[in-house]
Amino acid sequence: MKALGRRELMALAGGGLAVAAFSAARAQAPASAGAPSPKLLDELVAANRILADQGVVDGFGHVSARHDKRPDRFLLARSMAPGLVTPADIMEFDLDGVAVDPRGRTPYIERFIHSEIFRARADVGAVVHSHNPALIPFGVSKVPLRPVYHMASFLGAGAPVFEIREVAGPQSDMLIRDVRLGRALARTLGRSTVALMRGHGAVVVGDNVKTAVMHAVYAQIDAVVQAQAMQLGPVTYLNPSEAAKIAPQNDALVDKNWDLWRAHALK
Ligand SMILES: [Zn+2]
Repeated sequence: MKALGRRELMALAGGGLAVAAFSAARAQAPASAGAPSPKLLDELVAANRILADQGVVDGFGHVSARHDKRPDRFLLARSMAPGLVTPADIMEFDLDGVAVDPRGRTPYIERFIHSEIFRARADVGAVVHSHNPALIPFGVSKVPLRPVYHMASFLGAGAPVFEIREVAGPQSDMLIRDVRLGRALARTLGRSTVALMRGHGAVVVGDNVKTAVMHAVYAQIDAVVQAQAMQLGPVTYLNPSEAAKIAPQNDALVDKNWDLWRAHALK
């Protein structure tokens, strides 16, 4: 290897300075993207309430939204029951899962589910994580979750199962508690709308808050209906063509459900 010339040495020194400056910046809280639009904040609070009201989440589970001012920031409530979330509980995070301005609020341990899906999927605007019991059987058995009816057409893209043992070994606590596990889960999700987490729950995404909530509600209903149908005998599912055709139509009409669910959850 040839000796480094003066120019290369200067470049290396400059790189070192840049690394030092970067490290110093990382020691501080990430910069805020500023206040999200009132509409987005309102939708995210409503999403928390709706998911609880519809039985998708209980005291656990969470829903996030990508910040409308910066795609590398997202919004997520502090660690609390979704059904009780108010605007003051919504925190801002960067894509490493670091809170911008915690102000004493405790974040969800599993915020890396959200940060890594937002990082991997530019098309995703909102992420729901639940421990929805209707979905658990499809994560622990060999039966794939599939679209039984048109409202769950987004399942036509498949619902892959995340096996945490493949990443964390046999002695994890099942939680997505760091970047590495979040990244592995995002990899399992791939281009799908739903990923099941074996023995834990699921993640469901949408291109905005409303569609993510709608997908989470219908993933739950489809799981119940599929289990019922399978007890009757062989099941005919939507074929890929049918599923692909109806999915965008449902998303375009999301306000019909959203208005109904919101009124019920916030009454
Ligand atoms: Zn969880």
